[in-house]
Amino acid sequence: MTAGTNAPQDSTYPVPERLQTGKPTPYVTSFDQYKTMWEESVKNPEKFFGDLARDTLSWSKPFQTVLNGSFAQGDVGWFLEGELNACYNCVDRHAIAQPDKVAIIHEGDEIGNVRKITYRELLQEVSRLANVLTSLEVRKGDNIAIYMPMVPEAIFAMLACARVGAVHSVVFAGFSSDSLRDRIQDCGARVVLTADEGRRGGKNIATKRIVDEALKQAPTVEHVLVLRRTGSDIPWTSGRDLWWHEEIEKARPYSPPTNVNAEDPLFLLYTSGSTGTPKGVMHTTGGYLLGAAATVKYIFDYHPNDIHACMADIGWITGHTYLLYGPLLNGATTVVFESTPTYPNPSRFWELIQTHRVTQFYTAPTAIRALRRLGDQWLEGYDLSSLRVIGSVGEPIGGDAWQWYNQMVGKNQCAVVDTYWQTETGSIIVSPLPGATPTKPGSATFPFFGIHPQILDPQTGAVLQGNDVTGVLAISQPWPSMARTVYNNHNRYLDTYLNPYKGFYFTGDGASRDKDGYIWIRGRVDDVINVSGHRLSTAEIESALISHPAVAESAVVGGQDDLTGQCIHAYCTLKPNIENEAGLEKELSLQVRKVIGPFATPKRVYVVADLPKTRSGKIMRRILRKIVNNEQDQLGDISTLADPSVVPMLIDKVHLK
Ligand code: ATP
Ligand code: MG
Repeated sequence: MTAGTNAPQDSTYPVPERLQTGKPTPYVTSFDQYKTMWEESVKNPEKFFGDLARDTLSWSKPFQTVLNGSFAQGDVGWFLEGELNACYNCVDRHAIAQPDKVAIIHEGDEIGNVRKITYRELLQEVSRLANVLTSLEVRKGDNIAIYMPMVPEAIFAMLACARVGAVHSVVFAGFSSDSLRDRIQDCGARVVLTADEGRRGGKNIATKRIVDEALKQAPTVEHVLVLRRTGSDIPWTSGRDLWWHEEIEKARPYSPPTNVNAEDPLFLLYTSGSTGTPKGVMHTTGGYLLGAAATVKYIFDYHPNDIHACMADIGWITGHTYLLYGPLLNGATTVVFESTPTYPNPSRFWELIQTHRVTQFYTAPTAIRALRRLGDQWLEGYDLSSLRVIGSVGEPIGGDAWQWYNQMVGKNQCAVVDTYWQTETGSIIVSPLPGATPTKPGSATFPFFGIHPQILDPQTGAVLQGNDVTGVLAISQPWPSMARTVYNNHNRYLDTYLNPYKGFYFTGDGASRDKDGYIWIRGRVDDVINVSGHRLSTAEIESALISHPAVAESAVVGGQDDLTGQCIHAYCTLKPNIENEAGLEKELSLQVRKVIGPFATPKRVYVVADLPKTRSGKIMRRILRKIVNNEQDQLGDISTLADPSVVPMLIDKVHLK
């Protein structure tokens, strides 16, 4: 492996003034302090996390064993013997201490359609729903499917499951009936919680119809609890379907929480499927909650009175950890956003930040790039001065998008946290800390507490020591919020994460550690391209393309090449109002050559109208790779694509020339 063939961008940004001298003072105020804490956390995880778990969570029965098991055995468990209830930790203890504090701000699809829910109200709502679940004979350990729009009741639903010890499996309500059916079949849910319709971007979405379609082949489901969201006419199966409001009305507004073991499952969640069939990742209660709470405190630097706005849907892990569990565990006010970044116009996020005086804002590179593409005028006149920490997650954020986010949204006064993690890691594992870490645009920087990352040689599995190394990213010791298994398929869990490099958790992502020790995520290992012995990360080539003024988004994949082994194929979309003029593809190719070097010159550049994305906004490079390699008859599962119609368009573009 040649180190440094693709030297990263290297400008370092100090901790912004506001985080150095402003109020509130961050929890960690220097890089040295961070390093000391990190070292303690990895040298003596039992002490570090034992103390943290006692301070952070309320236990109905204390744990005695902090950590048991290992990667080698695939049997990791945390906080054994301990018992607790996730809902009690998120709701009850705050409802008792600060009942009138707003727990949830719901920003509806239409501007001005705002609903606020205090912790007292949240406890009542969740309790009622928990009692309804109990009346439907939902018991500890049962799997419950949730297929709901972004309304507060979706949060009540997740918490109500946790309250009775049931295991929620939230399915993003943009998924098709087939995807929903597969997920319900996989987990054998007995109850589904849904709504008549959803509202998004001014349109109604036929949520209940999709559920009905899915349930034609999901015989385990006995009851469907239907929230009335729009009031439109919907099909009804009597006996099976129940109206949410009718059931709630009969229920008592308090229900005692069911305490569970720290290692009992809290939820199942299917990965986004950008690399293959989705996996039903299982998280347990104690460790997951600790990871969620600790990262909100340290990485978002949450302080009392902050308004935490995570724009992810509850159908993704980011929505689970940073919209619901993490903020509520900290007693925060969390924003539930029902609409889209561009409805009714591309100022929607900025309007939301201004209206609610948001302090922490969290979104994905795909949204940042889309908004950058639409132009800076949409930010003009908005007061974003409440913001302290702005975060990014989901994909590598190229230097250009990072700069735009920092300048236009953060006004150079916010901590930009590029947070690297996965559904399987449960919470963020690599990220700057707002008051402590000097950042480099495009680098997720340093590991969170308890995370010991290693860069391995992909072929031999040897640990690459020191700085200035590139390889695959692995973690060398267990951390509390890691997934414990893949539902009903522990072998797949072992084969995907623990067997590829014995003794390590394998992330599946390529990474470098630069000369200063900063970690740069290079994207999926499958996405690293080897051209004549040069290992190139697709993320870096994409970043070079996006620095061209005409380019909005780009996706780079490797094609087979008899001469060089692999060669580079680059797909680009253009900013609005920019025409695909003759010579542009050539010019973009030269751009890569100029920024990275002649060896990185793409073999082909395709200017296209759109890229294939998962419903969480990730580019499905697997499809792009198959198309350039003439394997379009083997595209695999494309049901998780947001818009499958882009596929034939891309095939034409690549092959009809
Ligand atoms: P599947 O595992 O089914 O293919 P997925 O990996 O897309 O789906 P997620 O768990 O939502 O599902 O995504 C995790 C992946 O997202 C990481 O492995 C990494 O590739 C990418 N990622 C997340 N955050 C970052 C980040 N800050 N920088 C770079 N890459 C990131
Ligand atoms: Mg993954």
